[in-house]
Amino acid sequence: MPNIIENSVAYQAIETIRDRITQALNRAGRSPESLTLIAVSKTKAADQIQPVIEAGQSCFGENYVQEAQAKWPAMLEGDNPPALHMIGPLQSNKVNAALRLFSAIHTLDRISLAKKLSTALKSSEHHPELFIQVNTGGEEQKAGIFPEALPAFHSACSDLGLSISGLMCIPPEAEDPVPHFRMLRELAKKNGLDKLSMGMSNDFEAAIAEGATHIRIGSAIFGARIA
Ligand SMILES: *Cc1c(COP(=O)(O)O)cnc(C)c1O
Repeated sequence: MPNIIENSVAYQAIETIRDRITQALNRAGRSPESLTLIAVSKTKAADQIQPVIEAGQSCFGENYVQEAQAKWPAMLEGDNPPALHMIGPLQSNKVNAALRLFSAIHTLDRISLAKKLSTALKSSEHHPELFIQVNTGGEEQKAGIFPEALPAFHSACSDLGLSISGLMCIPPEAEDPVPHFRMLRELAKKNGLDKLSMGMSNDFEAAIAEGATHIRIGSAIFGARIA
């Protein structure tokens, strides 16, 4: 059994990613505790995820509440269940289910969702960490608060009783991500926030250099997604 797991592609891949993360942290003079690796398991089945849990990975990211509800509860039984982070768009009618499953939500991106969360949290025993998603590229089709609207949105969240931990971004695909990482870091600083969810398979080393506290890595661990 251990051999089967250690020979799995995902197990090997996560070892490689861990080495690259350690090197990037060392180059930046940062401690291992300053970074959370979120293994993004969207579209991947339990038999692909299990070896990564066996490899000691303790935090996973999912994009859809329904998919997470279908595949995770069985894998969360046992002594040290991994934490789940919501990193995809959150529909308002899925807020209660999301609160039960996820220990962090990275995609708070509109006032209607903030209101729903505020109401739902009042009667919830679960209080996930919240990140505001920022549309650093100002892309029309993309979710997230525009940078110039962030201070007002952040204070509206505070008025609703929401405690915000940090900011999240997905830089535009065809651009150098570094200016976007820097913008997110500056915005967080100005708004008194210290967590930064930024960096994916293709750019996590740059994100670590720019101060990411949470990196979200999917395909570099699990292989390309077919969907
Ligand atoms: C899918 C996804 C990721 C992972 O992307 P990879 O390029 O496969 O590492 C990270 N963040 C978000 C928000 C995603 O939707």
